[in-house]
Amino acid sequence: MSGSAPTPLGIFGGTFDPIHYGHLRPALELREQLALGEVRFIPAAIPPHRGEPGASPQQRLAMLHLALDGIEGMSIDERELRREGPSYMVDTLRSLRDEVGARPLVLLLGFDAFLGLAAWHEWHSIIALAHLAIATRPGWERAQLQQQPELAQLWHERGSDDVTPLQQTPAGHMVMVEVTPLAISATAIRTQLRQGRTARFLLPDGVLDYIERNRLYLSD
Ligand code: ATP
Repeated sequence: MSGSAPTPLGIFGGTFDPIHYGHLRPALELREQLALGEVRFIPAAIPPHRGEPGASPQQRLAMLHLALDGIEGMSIDERELRREGPSYMVDTLRSLRDEVGARPLVLLLGFDAFLGLAAWHEWHSIIALAHLAIATRPGWERAQLQQQPELAQLWHERGSDDVTPLQQTPAGHMVMVEVTPLAISATAIRTQLRQGRTARFLLPDGVLDYIERNRLYLSD
């Protein structure tokens, strides 16, 4: 349609080691609540802020395909897996910005990830390249923001409950979004599997079957 503003593009980065319903359901709700045209899942190759993932990049990608293929409005972007070196989100956003022009970009973060933002490479540039949409996550409270003065200040300057600027401008605004609380984490899933317990119903059946077939996460 000529003349209508392009819908915002949601960017959901993570290790996805493995992908689970605590990623999938919040991503879907953020897409709905923020009227995102699409959510792109971007698996990190070498996550800068954590240890080696338990599954290889190819296995993590295969699990994302099992979870997302055929789901409307969700896609997978392999650019961090193809890039050499650490997977800095700022580099990812720069390359996306080159592709999308002025289309709004919305970086989706769980509240825990947002609390770590001030340690990210060139984090001040991130908010110039994208909006931030922060999803609530069980175990992390809004009051914890006060322990991070730089982020509290950023929220004070850029945060609001109004989601319309995310439709109208390319970058620079922040919103906090209540999503269905799902106390699911990849760490807990890996621990359960290592201990011989089942992770069924915490993640899609196809992903769990893949994990079992490939004997993933059986040791540290
Ligand atoms: P790990 O336990 O290995 O740290 P994780 O379950 O937190 O993994 P990541 O791949 O590190 O998953 O997270 C990717 C993104 O998804 C982050 O922004 C994180 O905050 C968000 N996220 C993960 N699980 C949830 C959840 N249950 N609710 C809301 N957001 C979540």
